[in-house]
Amino acid sequence: AQRTLVLVKPDGVGRGLTGEVLRRIEAKGYRLVALDMREATTELLEQHYAEHLGKPFYGPLVEFMMSGPVVALVVEGHEVIAGFRSLAGTTDPTSAAPGTIRGDLGRAWGTAVVQNLVHGSDSPESAAREIGLWFPAL
Ligand code: ATP
Repeated sequence: AQRTLVLVKPDGVGRGLTGEVLRRIEAKGYRLVALDMREATTELLEQHYAEHLGKPFYGPLVEFMMSGPVVALVVEGHEVIAGFRSLAGTTDPTSAAPGTIRGDLGRAWGTAVVQNLVHGSDSPESAAREIGLWFPAL
């Protein structure tokens, strides 16, 4: 089955929403393959967000991701990459649909960084790359 990398970002962990995110993933029938709470390093985040290097939100994004612990997950299931992004909702919680993690639980921006609770890989290539970065032993 397909695998994806999911992160509960520092806002999600800080607001006590880790369990709620896990609940939605498991309720959908996906399987947790790996789970680890950790403080992300600059080096890891620079690699994770390499595609955003040079964008105006890059610096604030990396800083935000280091503002507290994150919970990293590898999740497995049929078409889980698209499926988790559908559970998460669109990037901006302001407009994310009700029923999604960001739509139900995400706060509207109002800040320079999008604090949108979760990350999910966006393609099979990204998933393989990101799982290798966060869980090199897998
Ligand atoms: P993710 O990759 O985290 O699942 P995404 O694919 O919806 O989210 P990307 O476009 O890959 O979003 O951007 C990565 C992250 O950078 C976003 O989740 C958000 O936290 C932040 N971000 C994206 N666009 C902006 C923006 N215009 N202003 C501020 N922050 C942004």
